[in-house]
Amino acid sequence: MAIILDGKKLRDKLLADLKLRVEKLSTKPTLAVVLVGEDPASKIYVNNKKKAAENIGINSIIINLPSFTGETELIQKIEELNNDPQVTAILVQLPLPKHINKNNIINSINPKKDADGFTTANFGLLFSGQKPYVYPCTPKGILLLLDEYEINLEGKHVVIIGRSNIVGRPLSQMILDRNATVTICHSRTQNLAGITKTADVLISAVGEKIIEENMLKSDCIVVDVGIFKDETGKTRGDVDFENVSKIASYITPVPGGVGPMTITSLMLNTVELYNMQHCD
Ligand code: NAP
Repeated sequence: MAIILDGKKLRDKLLADLKLRVEKLSTKPTLAVVLVGEDPASKIYVNNKKKAAENIGINSIIINLPSFTGETELIQKIEELNNDPQVTAILVQLPLPKHINKNNIINSINPKKDADGFTTANFGLLFSGQKPYVYPCTPKGILLLLDEYEINLEGKHVVIIGRSNIVGRPLSQMILDRNATVTICHSRTQNLAGITKTADVLISAVGEKIIEENMLKSDCIVVDVGIFKDETGKTRGDVDFENVSKIASYITPVPGGVGPMTITSLMLNTVELYNMQHCD
């Protein structure tokens, strides 16, 4: 049976440690979260971020703008936050309404206040082999979890399924920087199972049940990023956990694996940005 990569346990440990570090700061970091519209799932995510911040002594500001907010108005709001010395880190909750160009909004965030590490400036640093101000939260959380279990990626074949900007793309670069051999798969990949069978580490970020045990070699390390609700309303991941955990060496559960690590990374990023801003 596979060893469970326990994201909740590591989250609790890292956040307890971070809380102590925040208590020692002379002023408190502030995370500003901008939400446009009334999407119920986004509201839950934003509230979870607010709660996590408050639990460890980080101030949080939620700016909820109406769904008809224009791009110029939104950029003005972000500029205000960029210029506010009390604001440490800024996050724009995605998805944005269709009339707003997501890239224009993300890139209006000062890269030194970019809590998610999604600006082109931070991506540019990452993809050119330099250190970004912060790393994107989900990839960072996955690597923290693998590190906790002393899983060394050097020389391993890591197969990532999914090429989004929030998971697959930055994760591929961060894993390449760990000297792994990286393959990225996506919806047009042919013979997916043929590729996944060669994986020492499989990381799946799709959002549908796609990974069965016959697609993997024994002792593979499996990281399930996907989250969706099945027909009964239960939260599921991309991986058939019950059967894959019988052949894998390590596996993340859903929920309780990558999810808690993502929010932990956001808190770590906020404090890292605070420390950077206060060292200048
Ligand atoms: P996304 O932008 O929709 O990307 C999904 C990726 O999966 C795309 O690259 C897509 O390929 C690929 N894909 C779709 N169907 C496929 C198939 N049949 N075979 C192979 N690849 C396929 O989603 P995302 O934002 O990256 O999120 C992915 C999943 O992770 C979602 O369930 C999301 O909820 C979850 N997630 C979880 C966390 C967490 O903290 N646990 C954080 C972020 C995301 P194309 O590029 O060709 O379309």
